[in-house]
Amino acid sequence: MDRETKEKIEKILELKEKKDALILAHNYQIPEIQDVADFVGDSLGLSEKAKETDKPLIVFCGVLFMAETAKILNPDKKVLIPDPEAGCSLVESITVEELRKWKQKHPDAVVVGYINTSADVKAECDYICTSSNAVNVVESIPEDKEILFLPDMFLGFYVQAKTKRKNLHIWPGECHVHAAIRIEDIKRAYDEHKNAELLIHPECGCSSSCMYLTADGKIKGEILSTSGMIKYAKKSPASEFVVATEIGILHPLRKKAPEKKFYPVNEEAICKYMKMITIDKLLKSLEREIYEVNVPEEIMRKAKRGIERMLAL
Ligand code: SF4
Repeated sequence: MDRETKEKIEKILELKEKKDALILAHNYQIPEIQDVADFVGDSLGLSEKAKETDKPLIVFCGVLFMAETAKILNPDKKVLIPDPEAGCSLVESITVEELRKWKQKHPDAVVVGYINTSADVKAECDYICTSSNAVNVVESIPEDKEILFLPDMFLGFYVQAKTKRKNLHIWPGECHVHAAIRIEDIKRAYDEHKNAELLIHPECGCSSSCMYLTADGKIKGEILSTSGMIKYAKKSPASEFVVATEIGILHPLRKKAPEKKFYPVNEEAICKYMKMITIDKLLKSLEREIYEVNVPEEIMRKAKRGIERMLAL
């Protein structure tokens, strides 16, 4: 790390103390951001930290829907995002108008929305879920109830296969980074590292095919959220892992299990939105208290119900 970056990091730490701020970072953030954060985790872990903090200022190093979730859980606190343009292709795969039309066709259905949705889409959902708890959330809904699951179709297929629910309707949305991870990538990486275990995120384009391969014993692997991958890798007796998700996860995996080896399935699995948060932008954000995240009160109130139902589970 060069001297200039080190000095900026020192300034960030000073400002964080002075302003009594909490810095949260997602597992896909660049290593320097993860190392300066108070807590690094997946969407569920970050939502929980945002909910329990007593700090007056939260700086969210992730993408906009995550910072909005932190604001919804902490309406009285100031929530900042260092770059408000940090979006998400999965969030963009459904609009609130599209969801309302879908609901009209299934008026009695329970709506389960993945956390990767905009605040106004969340406000139309009965439950919010993350990849760590999507199966549990769906299993908590009475079996005779129709479910609309949105917006990630690969996570939807995974949940459908796990819960064996016939009345689960899945929105055809996807994340461009995970959809691009194909079964051929997995097979190639697996051939190159024959003793490795496979860790795969359920949003991946190959998650359903991988489930069948793992069930058949053709591949030794687990389908896990990013935080689930870290926990699993630490306790598994395996010493090598092939990892199928955004490559930012390699940093916390290597930090938490330094004695083990981790190989990305696809080096190009990079989320350009997550990488928009830099040390320079984080420093400016803390100095000038920009960019404040705000969500209209009515949307916040409605969106909070689904998030709190998830956290209660
Ligand atoms: S990796 Fe995919 S789902 Fe995650 S923030 Fe980037 S675009 Fe969205």
